Amino acid sequence: MSPDNRTTGEVILVGGGPGDPDLLTIGGLRALQQADVVLYDHLAPLACLDQTRPGAVLVDVGKIPRGCQTAQADINTLLIEHARTGASVVRFKGGDPFVLGRGSEEWLACAAAGIPVRVIPGVSSAIAGPELAGIPLTHRGITQNFSVVSGHVGPDHPASTVNWDALAQSSGTIVILMGVAHLPEITEGLMARGLNPDLPAAIVVRAATPNQRVVRGTVASLAGLAAEHDVQPPALIVIGAVVGLELGGSE
Ligand code: SAH
Repeated sequence: MSPDNRTTGEVILVGGGPGDPDLLTIGGLRALQQADVVLYDHLAPLACLDQTRPGAVLVDVGKIPRGCQTAQADINTLLIEHARTGASVVRFKGGDPFVLGRGSEEWLACAAAGIPVRVIPGVSSAIAGPELAGIPLTHRGITQNFSVVSGHVGPDHPASTVNWDALAQSSGTIVILMGVAHLPEITEGLMARGLNPDLPAAIVVRAATPNQRVVRGTVASLAGLAAEHDVQPPALIVIGAVVGLELGGSE
C-alpha cells in the first residue's frame, strides 16, 4: 500500500487500567513512551499521557455516553491512516481492551487493512473496581464464579444476547458494566427471573480515581439508591453475597 519507501507502522491496543496510573502495566507504559501517535478516550488513565515523548501526536477519540462521540468506524480509520504513515500508534483505552471495550473490532479492522496489530492487556475495571471497594469477586466458601455482563441494553431488550435467566440462577457474583442508564430495568429483570431481592449489591463509581464512590444496598434497593445519590457513569454494579463481606475498601 505504501506509495513511497516508508515502512508500515503498527497499532498497539494498550489497556490502561481503570484510572489510577499505577495500574498501567510496565509494557503499556513502555508502548506509550515510545508512541508516535496516541488515540485515547476519557476512560483511559489520562495522567499517563504526560509520559509520551515530546512531539507525539495525542488525539482525543472520547466516546462519552450521550455526549461528544467519535464513531467506532472513524477510530478504526484513524488508527489505520496513522499507521500507514509509518507511525507507532497506541490506542490507549481504559481497563482491558478485550473486556466489553471494542478492542477486538479495532484489531480486526487493522488486520483487514494489513496493519500489524498487537494488544497489551490492562487491569479491567470489572475486577479492579469491586476490589478497590473491598469486594472480592470470589471467596472460598461463599462464591466460586463471577460473570461480567454488558448492561448497555436491559434484560428485555431484543439486542441483549445475555442469558439473563441463567444469570439470575447462576449463584455467582454478577458484575455489570455500562449499566447505569438501565439499572432499574436490570435489577427488576433479575428479580423477575428469580434473583433474591435481598442479595447485597453495590455500585462503584469512578473506581481507581480520586472521585471513587461506593453506594451499597440490595438488589431491590440499588436502583433507588443510585438515583438518590445521582450516580453517573462510569460506574459498575456488583451483585452477590461477596458484596456483604465488606473488607473495608475505600468508600
Ligand atoms: N474495557 C473496559 C470496560 C469498557 S466498557 C474495562 O475492562 O474496564 C465501559 C464501562 O466500564 C463503563 O460504562 C463502566 O461500567 C466501566 N468502567 C470503566 N472504567 C471505570 C471506572 N474507573 N470505574 C467504574 N466503572 C468503570
